[in-house]
Amino acid sequence: MSKTGLLFVASEVYPFVKTGGLADVAHSLPRALSGEYAVRVVMPLYKDIERERFGIVALEENFNLSMGGIDYPVEFYGCTYEGIDYRFIYSPLLCDREFLYGSPERGYEDNDIRFGIFNYAVVELLKKDPYAIVHLNDWQSALVPLLMKQEGRLLAKTLYTIHNLAYQGNFDASALHKLGINTEYFTMEGVEFHGMVSFMKAGIAYCDRVTTVSPTYAKEILKPEFGCGLEGFLSHHRSKLVGIRNGIDAEHFSPVNDPALVQSYSDMSGKAPNKKDFLKQRGLIGIKKPLFVFIGRFVSQKGLDLLIETLPKMAALECNIALLGEGEARYGEALNAIAKKCSNVHLTFGYDESLSRRMYAAADFLLMPSVFEPCGLNQLIAMSYGAVPVVRLVGGLADTVRNIEKYDSEKRDGFGIVFTKQTGRSFMHAINRAMELYRDKQSYGEIVNHNMKCDFSWKESAKHYVSLYKKLEG
Ligand code: ADP
Repeated sequence: MSKTGLLFVASEVYPFVKTGGLADVAHSLPRALSGEYAVRVVMPLYKDIERERFGIVALEENFNLSMGGIDYPVEFYGCTYEGIDYRFIYSPLLCDREFLYGSPERGYEDNDIRFGIFNYAVVELLKKDPYAIVHLNDWQSALVPLLMKQEGRLLAKTLYTIHNLAYQGNFDASALHKLGINTEYFTMEGVEFHGMVSFMKAGIAYCDRVTTVSPTYAKEILKPEFGCGLEGFLSHHRSKLVGIRNGIDAEHFSPVNDPALVQSYSDMSGKAPNKKDFLKQRGLIGIKKPLFVFIGRFVSQKGLDLLIETLPKMAALECNIALLGEGEARYGEALNAIAKKCSNVHLTFGYDESLSRRMYAAADFLLMPSVFEPCGLNQLIAMSYGAVPVVRLVGGLADTVRNIEKYDSEKRDGFGIVFTKQTGRSFMHAINRAMELYRDKQSYGEIVNHNMKCDFSWKESAKHYVSLYKKLEG
């Protein structure tokens, strides 16, 4: 029997482009689903994607897409990569930019039109080929169900995953006309949000099912603290909302076969050469001192305020600290000032996949003091690479990292140092607990080896998606 068609839509997919966790998920989840479904992944063909390297070819299906009375040229491209069928949408306005969405400080002014083109082009794909399920991700593809409704004759069922509610794709009311959306949708029940047009609201309102990337985050976003103004709207739609924890591609994120590492390893004993090499490269001294790393976007969500407040105190301890990331200038400047003063703090600006993997391998601890965290992948990667996570009890962190005080070798969960309050004191207390754990070599080693054996793959979570799809198929 041939498999049912599933179109998976994302604005970034690893290894073509990646700015964060969405790209990892859009790479690994379709792979995990491909046993059950005929999956096709669709994304924009941004200018920096290496067409030759991935064998991306034009499909001779160029056309002019009409949106809000204006024609936009669109070309379809395709390739098969690691057994997955990819479709790419190229339109100059959407793809020929320095950044995917804009600078870390500001999204591009015309993101409504750019991602409007993307959404309309996805609808064109749906008209060409029958799919039973369309799986949309984040605001960049959230208009699709509304456009399908407007089109009237597309029968696919839709599932919309919110990877981060804080990024909603809200635009001035004039976007309604530019996007060719009928005014009947511009209501509180529809896309209207404080007089603006909200892509996120379209996804929530018109999709058959809505998911978020962890069970705890699914509950948190119903409260004002985490709901970003949409808590009431989400509560109204709560019967179709469910949280499914993200996984990581266990093959791809494995210290056993990661070409970025100086030495591969399968338990704690193999980490030392990686740590030694990393410290040397970064001019940090003291292999015996614990190495704490932070890898991620320098934005408030990731707990940068807490990190900056705590770093000087941390640096006074017998440890090394390495940070990798990019984001808001004010955070970058503050971190830079600390790194200049403290010889045991090393800062690398930028996005560097290979370096990030060397850091996970070298690290004894990963810092994740997030204010909110829809799921978080860093802590899963860290545990797979034998770095103990130090995390705040929030969102997906609460679902994936259990406190070491509850350590039980029989449990299949990952363990780490969990703290609750978003205060410097609470975070510093967690750091001191980490220092203490590190001194107890036996307990530390046991936790690391336990975490490295845990299964953070998509195996279980993919089953939840399959069961949701099956329910939608009826
Ligand atoms: P986000 O909220 O940014 O999506 P996630 O934890 O879900 O956070 O996923 C982050 C992913 O991006 C992880 O694979 C992490 O290793 C990677 N990452 C984040 N910042 C950087 C960076 N500066 N360089 C390399 N990889 C990074």
